[in-house]
Amino acid sequence: MTQDSPGRLAADLARYLDQQQQDGTAWYFDEGPVAAAAAATLADPPATPVEAATPAALTPPAAATAAGGPEADAAAAAKSAREREFRAECERFVRETLTQIRNRPVAPVAAAPAAPDLFAAAPAATPDGPPAAPAPVSKRLALESLAAEVAVCTACKLHPTRTQTVFGSGNPDARVLFIGEAPGRNEDEQGLPFVGRAGQLLTDILRAIRFERDEVYICNILKCRPPENRDPERDEADACEPFLRRQLAIIQPHLICCLGRHAAMTLLDTRASLRSLRETVHFYQGIPVLATFHPAALLRNPHWKRDTWEDVRKLRALHDALLADAS
Ligand code: SF4
Repeated sequence: MTQDSPGRLAADLARYLDQQQQDGTAWYFDEGPVAAAAAATLADPPATPVEAATPAALTPPAAATAAGGPEADAAAAAKSAREREFRAECERFVRETLTQIRNRPVAPVAAAPAAPDLFAAAPAATPDGPPAAPAPVSKRLALESLAAEVAVCTACKLHPTRTQTVFGSGNPDARVLFIGEAPGRNEDEQGLPFVGRAGQLLTDILRAIRFERDEVYICNILKCRPPENRDPERDEADACEPFLRRQLAIIQPHLICCLGRHAAMTLLDTRASLRSLRETVHFYQGIPVLATFHPAALLRNPHWKRDTWEDVRKLRALHDALLADAS
C-alpha cells in the first residue's frame, strides 16, 4: 500500500457516499435487501407514449438529506438542476434515436429456412438488417438446441481450458439483451452469465430500471472463459460470433446493451473509447445497441456509477419509447 493510499481511499469513499446521497438509487448499495427496499420506491412504468419517452418515472427516490439549512437547500437545488438537465438530454437522445431507427433503410426480408432442421445453420443475414426470424418453433427449444451445439464446440483455442460453456440465460422473448465480453471464473464454474458480486450488481441495476432479471436476456460474446480472464482475442470473437448471431436471430431483441468497453468494441468492431460509444446509439445486425460500464468495473470504480445510472435510464426510456412506437 502506498503512502497516499489512505487519503485516496477516504476520498473515494467520500465521493461514493456523496453519490449515494445525491442519487439515492438502489443499486448504489451492493447489499440486496437495501437495494430491494430502495428499488421498491420507484414509480410505476409510464403508460402513454409521451410519458414513455420521458424518463420522469425513472427519477431516483429522494435522497436522504442528512440535515436541513442553506447547505442542504443548495445541494437539493443543484441536484434538481442536474436532474432537469439529464431529463432534457434523455428526451433528446430518445427522440433522435427513434428518428435514426425510423430512417434506417428497410432491409429486404430474408427467406425463411425451408429445411425442417431449423437450427443447423444461421438464418441468412441481410447486409445490415435484423437477423432473419427462425421458423415458428418454441424459442426456448431453439435456444436449448443451440446451447447443446455450443457445449461441444471446439472452434477456437478456448475450448481446452473451459470448465463448461456459458451460453446465456433469461427470457427467450426478451425485448432487451445485455451482453458482456466473456465468462469469468464464477461463470465458468456455474455455467451461467453474470453471477457473483458483479452479477448481483447487474440484478440491482436492472431492478432500479424496473426490469427483473428473468425478463431480459443476458449473455456474453464469447461462450468460453479466456484463461486468467484476459481480454477476448479477435480470432476467438470471430469464431464465436456465428453462435451469437443465431442466438439473436432466435430471441430477436429490440435493444442490446453492451456491458463494458470490450463487449462494445468486439460487437461493434471498433477501437473507439467507451466514453464515445456511450454517447450515441449503434447498430448490430439492424438492432439498436447502447453501451455502458461493466458491473465488475463499477465494483472497482464506484465513481462510474453515476454515468451508468444515466446510461441505464436512457436505455429504459428508449425501451419504453420503442414499445410505444411499435403499438
Ligand atoms: S469461445 Fe465460442 S468458438 Fe470458442 S470454443 Fe467456446 S463456444 Fe467455441
